[in-house]
Amino acid sequence: MSDRSPSTLPVPLAVDRVREEFPILAREKYGKPLRYLDNAASTQKPQAVLDAIEHLYAHSYANIHRGVHFLSEEATAAYEAARGRVARFLGAHSPAEVVFTRNATESINLVAASFLRPRAQPGRTIVLTQMEHHANIVPWQLLAEEQGLRVRPVAVTAEGEVDREDFRVALAEDPALVALCHVSNTLGTINPVEEMVAEAKEHGLPVLLDGAQAVAHFPVDVGSLGCDFYVFSGHKVFGPTGIGVLWGREELLAAMPPYQGGGDMIERVSFAGTTFAPPPARFEAGTPHIAGAVGLAAALDYTEALGHGPIEAHEQALLAKGTEVLRSVDGLRIIGEARRKVAVLSFVIEGVHPHDLATVLDRDGIAVRAGHHCTQPLMEYYGLNATTRASFAFYNTFEEVEALGESLGRALRILR
Ligand code: PLP
Repeated sequence: MSDRSPSTLPVPLAVDRVREEFPILAREKYGKPLRYLDNAASTQKPQAVLDAIEHLYAHSYANIHRGVHFLSEEATAAYEAARGRVARFLGAHSPAEVVFTRNATESINLVAASFLRPRAQPGRTIVLTQMEHHANIVPWQLLAEEQGLRVRPVAVTAEGEVDREDFRVALAEDPALVALCHVSNTLGTINPVEEMVAEAKEHGLPVLLDGAQAVAHFPVDVGSLGCDFYVFSGHKVFGPTGIGVLWGREELLAAMPPYQGGGDMIERVSFAGTTFAPPPARFEAGTPHIAGAVGLAAALDYTEALGHGPIEAHEQALLAKGTEVLRSVDGLRIIGEARRKVAVLSFVIEGVHPHDLATVLDRDGIAVRAGHHCTQPLMEYYGLNATTRASFAFYNTFEEVEALGESLGRALRILR
């Protein structure tokens, strides 16, 4: 932010007003206000998203695509408009590049099954990093086992950045595909994916980016990222659960076989043989999560209206304040000190179990997560079983950061 002149600084976010738009944030527990610091696991939903879902079910709901009646037409229009909204959010060439799935996990499984399986050659590698979420490890392991490939994790530095030299070495080992997280859910690291994709492209490699932890924090432009596939989940970007996105280059999707079979993904079915619909319908077998797509579109509208500049500025200020508060806690070590981070703070405290800590914080109304955060290989690298993780969204406040610091102090007096 420091290189911006005052006249281009974003207008500060009116956080108090924003919080009023999230009904759940008004909750209290144990006589304390809820302080929700578990946003990397899932984000809360603004009234605008709840209203969009209710409006669909109350006014325009029917099954989509096959109906000739007006309700089906309205529901179809809403679902396809949501696809267009996601395409615009990602800077896609066309809505046809946007496939709705259940979540980021399903999107990765789809690419593993439909893109890589048909072109898998035994002996080749799938390049990942040591900081991947299990969702970006296990689908590749399953395929590797089946097809005789090898998963090749790229090392991470002590600060929590990808070891770029090891990445270069891995790229020279004849990989079949590169799959990288845009942002680490445990460390908060923002990976320099533009540069890393460009390096992979020098080797002519296909690249999937796991954007599950990126999209809540900053806008994404798949064109400038240069990747081939980008995945994320609706529930991590203030939208509903059960809806996810796979963006893929049109020509790649067009060449991929179906992932699942069923209704809606066909052109013509006969017992002599079936032909398939073009993408994205080819990859959306069965009745999709219509209301989920509509809610996701409303969430993207909502964050765009708040402004990505103000969101980023506020979250970076929360990160700076949170880092300062945690550093003042006796015996606390932050896990993940990358140069570019989103507001995710994982930490361990000498002599205190992360689960005990999270339990005491919960009694103060503070919701954090303790565990391996579905990144066991990363935990292994740091020699840990678990961390406590506070993860922030734009609706969090400086007062909540201070409350976290105070509650940690109290917890240490109880637990040590
Ligand atoms: N990738 C990353 C980096 C994540 O943090 C997560 C969830 O925490 C996922 C993938 C999987 O997301 P989902 O469970 O919504 O499929």
